Amino acid sequence: MSLSKKFRVEPGKGIDLADLDPADTSAAKSKAAAKAELASDLEALTELQRALYAEARQSLLICLQAPDAGGKDGTIRNIFTAFNPQGCHVKGFKAPTTIERGYDFLWRVHPHVPPRGGVSIFNRSHYEDVLVVRVKELAPEAVWRARYEHINAFERLIADNGTRTLKFYLHISKEEQLSRFAARLENPAKNWKISEADYEERAYWEDYRVAFEEALARCSTDIAPWFAIPADKKWYRNFVIARIVREQMEAMKIKLPEPSVDLEDIRRRYLTEVGAGVVA
Ligand code: AMP
Ligand code: MG
Repeated sequence: MSLSKKFRVEPGKGIDLADLDPADTSAAKSKAAAKAELASDLEALTELQRALYAEARQSLLICLQAPDAGGKDGTIRNIFTAFNPQGCHVKGFKAPTTIERGYDFLWRVHPHVPPRGGVSIFNRSHYEDVLVVRVKELAPEAVWRARYEHINAFERLIADNGTRTLKFYLHISKEEQLSRFAARLENPAKNWKISEADYEERAYWEDYRVAFEEALARCSTDIAPWFAIPADKKWYRNFVIARIVREQMEAMKIKLPEPSVDLEDIRRRYLTEVGAGVVA
């Protein structure tokens, strides 16, 4: 079975996250085998993005959502560095600024949607507006409730314009989060990433689960599917996400453009000019 199929949240069906073991590694033969497959998938991703850029007709949007310390940054570093920075844009979404709050919640998102031939990676996304906003009651229920439909309409709009949207929810356990926080607290190189707020958010763990389940259930569509990824094991998370992105990009049927010039004519007119010896 393709990993896309195994981990996709079926449109209209939803998901019970209690049934998804964050420590699952069942799709890998072994850690070593997964690492080898990851390496070849990353090479394939490099070629696929090169073709996407050359084709300049479609684009790819990847949204990463997870609890704090869920692995969004690590996913970008380990997988999406396979893409040429020319043609790939990474955008992180923080709490909206005063200016951004003056507009609808998608206003700040739309400019970061990839142009034809491009890839955008969202580290957090418009889904925060039905996650943290819902859990922390930053907007009235009537406001955030209407957003599932707004999101689906927005993703339909960009799909109609050639953007393939893939959304990944990285599923970690509460215990794994605690141990990643501990690493941030103890490792000087990681100190900058930890704050009291991270620990305080743990009190809302269940509320976030409910909010994630509803977002995944209501917004996993054929044109913009959600994938729920067991993410306690970083090597497994990397392996699964890279494989899914590869499968999905292969399904985009990206075609290198036909040459817009007459190659034979160029060869005939210019290569012979360079002189014998250069032209084989
Ligand atoms: P970090 O990813 O650790 O840099 O944190 C970014 C913070 O911004 C997180 O606490 C998010 O919950 C918060 N954030 C992102 N988008 C929104 C939003 N639309 N409304 C409120 N908070 C947000
Ligand atoms: Mg954080």
